[in-house]
Amino acid sequence: MSSENRIELLRKILKVPTINENEGRIADIIEAALKDLPNLTFTRVQYAPGRDNLIVDINQPENQSKVLGFNGHLDVVDTGNTDLWTYAPFAAVMTDDRIYGRGAADMKAGVAAMVCAVKELLEAGATFNGGIRLLFTVGEEIDNFGARQLSALGYSQPLTALVVGEPTGQAIWHAHKGIIDFTAQATGKSAHGAMPELGINAIDHLFDFYAQAKQTMAPLLAKVDPDLGQTTFNVTLISGGNQINSIPQFAKLRGNIRTVTAVPNETIIAALKAATAEINTLPEHKIELTIDSTINAISSPANSEIATCVQNAAKTHAWPVKLTVGAPTTDAALFETDQHQFPFIVIGPGNTSAHQVDEYVTIQDYLKVTDIYKSVITQYLA
Ligand SMILES: [Zn+2]
Repeated sequence: MSSENRIELLRKILKVPTINENEGRIADIIEAALKDLPNLTFTRVQYAPGRDNLIVDINQPENQSKVLGFNGHLDVVDTGNTDLWTYAPFAAVMTDDRIYGRGAADMKAGVAAMVCAVKELLEAGATFNGGIRLLFTVGEEIDNFGARQLSALGYSQPLTALVVGEPTGQAIWHAHKGIIDFTAQATGKSAHGAMPELGINAIDHLFDFYAQAKQTMAPLLAKVDPDLGQTTFNVTLISGGNQINSIPQFAKLRGNIRTVTAVPNETIIAALKAATAEINTLPEHKIELTIDSTINAISSPANSEIATCVQNAAKTHAWPVKLTVGAPTTDAALFETDQHQFPFIVIGPGNTSAHQVDEYVTIQDYLKVTDIYKSVITQYLA
């Protein structure tokens, strides 16, 4: 494909608004781009109407001892107030060296680069000593819906290595943090604000929980993971009460914890449960804890074969070769299971404009990563 054709494919994908919907339309575009090539099979796994995960297989991965996976999510985050955007978020406007749009960085450029890499190699008649599986997922930005679904169905089982195309801003990651989202709800008893002795103040009790949770978590937050640093704990949403002159009957907060491999998610969840139990021993305290989502931190050896292939490819294309780590989670954490682990690397075009107004990718990064992916495939499956 010429650079123009690569850019055209990316812009076509960017024009599909996939804010937690419509991923199937991108699956259609990918399938159309690859359909005439040899040794390919397509599998759709529907998550909801209009929302297909797409698996593209080359050389029947199920029958191969070596299988290189590529992963990208097809959904994007909300645009926010579109009036603030210089260019309409789904118009894929191109300037001299940039393409703008929601998803340009996170991560439709990564998705398009994978498709172009495979298409160009197959068109050139390349043969591979093993299989390739492209895993395109839905709903990653909400709670990795597609990756959870595909992983449960066993689609990551044949993989011996995985490249994730999330935007790394001219870096290569071999580890990333995990997440725990939780909700704590306090229940009290409403009463007239002038007669508080008749009520139970749910906000007071929620604050008691918050203080206890921070205290219980402190020793875990202090532990330093050699790759990923420290766990972080933040309460990010809070609400309670319904009127200024009433004692609040309900209050709740939600927290977002970013975890590291040195402190497993189970350990942190146990600590949150312990803090809740401790507070509930106090008179009239009723706190209910819910774990809304948990995704493990994952780390891959810095000297794995896939890491070496990516570093070799990066060097050839003037991309920094030093391995680093990322804070955001990726679908890789869902594709890795207790039964099956494999080395992974995150490398993708795009930058910190992800999730922001005027999100963009530079054309140079997009073209470069496409070349890097091609080189990674030919090396790993030589
Ligand atoms: Zn992403």
